[in-house]
Amino acid sequence: MDIPLSDIKGIGQARLKTLKAQGIDSVRDLLLCLPADYKDLSQPKQLSELFAGDVACVKVRVDAPVREQRVKRLVITKTRVADDSESMPVIWYNQPWLKGQLFEGKELLLYGRVEAKYGHLQLSSPTIEHETGLIPIYRRMQGIPPKTFRQMIEIALKQAEGQWPDELPASLRARYGLCERNFAMRAAHFPESHEALAAARYRLAFEELLLYQAGLWMMRGTGQKGVAIASTKKDEDAFWKTMPFPPTAAQTRVLREILADMRSELAMARLVQGDVGSGKTALAFGALYVAAKKGYMGAMMAPTEILARQHYESAKQLLEPQGIRCGLLIGSMTPKQKKEAHLAIQNGDWQVAIGTHALISKGVEYKNLGLVVTDEQHRFGVKQRTTLSEKGDSPNVLVMSATPIPRTLALILYGDLDVSIVDELPPGRTPVKTRVVPESKRDGMYGFIIQEVQAGRQVYVVCPLVEESEAVEARPAEAVYEDLRTGPLKSLRVGLVHGRMKSIEKEEMLSQFHQGDLDVLVSTTVIEVGVNVPNASVMVIENAERFGLAQLHQLRGRVGRGANVSWCFLMANENEKLDLMTKTNDGFVIAQKDMELRGPGELFGYRQSGAMAAGIGKLMGDTKLLQQTHDEVKRLMKHPDDPESIQVMAAAKTLFDERTQDIAMN
Ligand code: ADP
Ligand code: MG
Repeated sequence: MDIPLSDIKGIGQARLKTLKAQGIDSVRDLLLCLPADYKDLSQPKQLSELFAGDVACVKVRVDAPVREQRVKRLVITKTRVADDSESMPVIWYNQPWLKGQLFEGKELLLYGRVEAKYGHLQLSSPTIEHETGLIPIYRRMQGIPPKTFRQMIEIALKQAEGQWPDELPASLRARYGLCERNFAMRAAHFPESHEALAAARYRLAFEELLLYQAGLWMMRGTGQKGVAIASTKKDEDAFWKTMPFPPTAAQTRVLREILADMRSELAMARLVQGDVGSGKTALAFGALYVAAKKGYMGAMMAPTEILARQHYESAKQLLEPQGIRCGLLIGSMTPKQKKEAHLAIQNGDWQVAIGTHALISKGVEYKNLGLVVTDEQHRFGVKQRTTLSEKGDSPNVLVMSATPIPRTLALILYGDLDVSIVDELPPGRTPVKTRVVPESKRDGMYGFIIQEVQAGRQVYVVCPLVEESEAVEARPAEAVYEDLRTGPLKSLRVGLVHGRMKSIEKEEMLSQFHQGDLDVLVSTTVIEVGVNVPNASVMVIENAERFGLAQLHQLRGRVGRGANVSWCFLMANENEKLDLMTKTNDGFVIAQKDMELRGPGELFGYRQSGAMAAGIGKLMGDTKLLQQTHDEVKRLMKHPDDPESIQVMAAAKTLFDERTQDIAMN
């Protein structure tokens, strides 16, 4: 169903352009912008039921004169409100017009945050509501006021009503009690009740999971005849001899599994999962080494340029002395460099090509491609993985992921892959000690950091990505950097990397940190993946509550890489979620909890997708739903000629084709 946006009444040329700029090209795209959340105005609470920190809706009357106070440029409007249960102060900032609108006795429906102030509760800047029910809250669209955006959705829904063909067969819907698609879309945007919203979420989550798995199944590389690369135990031993360390038992086992796959007539399709620091790079190199020695080219794709360069540097150190020619291909190279790289790949001058998704761009032709490695797979769409393998004649595919994934989910995300697990860290690692650090202990922590630096160690300070609209709640990396550099850490050498810097500048900063020319590196999450500085022993994570557990675990993995005791400080108030981080270093335990809390959304590799909103992403982590959809896909696949199967396959194909461009890069 694709009605052009221009057909929607009330969307003029200017708006059309604004929407396009944000990737919204059709009515379908627009309607897939599901609410990020809902304001629940359906059941006002009694004032006496409220706790500090609640975001609540209350039905009250103004119970005191409305007063206005000016402090510098701030206008503060204050009064008290009451219902039958209690009365409570309420305060607004910089909304001077309120004074004229409010009077004693006026009835109000308020929605906002409850705060504890001076030992009592107060409502802080609540909105005055004029409607009831569940009200959608949309992610802010640049250049479109929220109210206008909501109206656009309303009109689009009306116009699209009934025209959205249901991608799921009616018979299948009936089996699982799934509501119809048009109903689901309407209810997800403007739910008439909690029940309607729940039905919509269930239906949309089911659809996502079903189609995702069906798509994977269709692209399944296993069972396909591929390039067989013969090798013996001798080759394996020879490789480990070239490494600067003896392999762990887990590394030995997994490389053996990989080489066995490569020997087989069937194309390898294997996922190697292992916690951060478990030594997966060496495994990739082992496979690339064997491929090269047997006359095949290998390609290794990383999700960021930083990581690609790092792999390339390691390859130069470890593989080139063995006579294996390695090269780098990334997007930021000059056209001339790229052309040379393309030629080297085409002629087989390189035996190992390392790079970013530039490796799969048009015009890159491989000579005798025998092995494809993708690192940190969840950052690539599944499609990218397959595009690279399509560059060869069914080459062996090795996927590496540092994101431990709960078993139920692995089954689904990687339904098309065999799985090896590197469940052992190289010796000499001491587990990272993790603490939750409240504001009151911040200064003490800086004292500790200075000591650590004096003892020769280095420190990461990681800040969440902050959208401009929410800059008040979390401090962006730049601000933290300025503060530290001129304040508590001014005796140290502090550097900054963030996503908007040019790749070359980032590179420069990281290499300074790597060489020990910086003591402290403030960054956004660009360092999340793969960066390796064994001398760094402290990681500070600002606004830790804003990160998912799995991501915190990933970040924490940047320290604890050397023999020193390492520390991870989570800047946040005590809370149960973060507490888990202080108790375990087991990535699988953390991943399970993370999925329970937030659903698997990001793991699916299309975190921007509207389908992740409306609470659907979280539902997708439901073990029962995962299992149900998995079983259903299996059943459909067994009967590919069944009309149900045909319909589902067609929908899955469309979905995958749409999601080709989804690479998350900071
Ligand atoms: P991963 O990619 O799994 O997060 P890396 O491959 O980056 O981990 O390895 C982390 C660090 O451990 C690197 O510095 C690497 O040289 C080192 N390393 C890997 N395997 C071993 C081993 N068997 N013994 C000692 N050090 C190892
Ligand atoms: Mg790695």
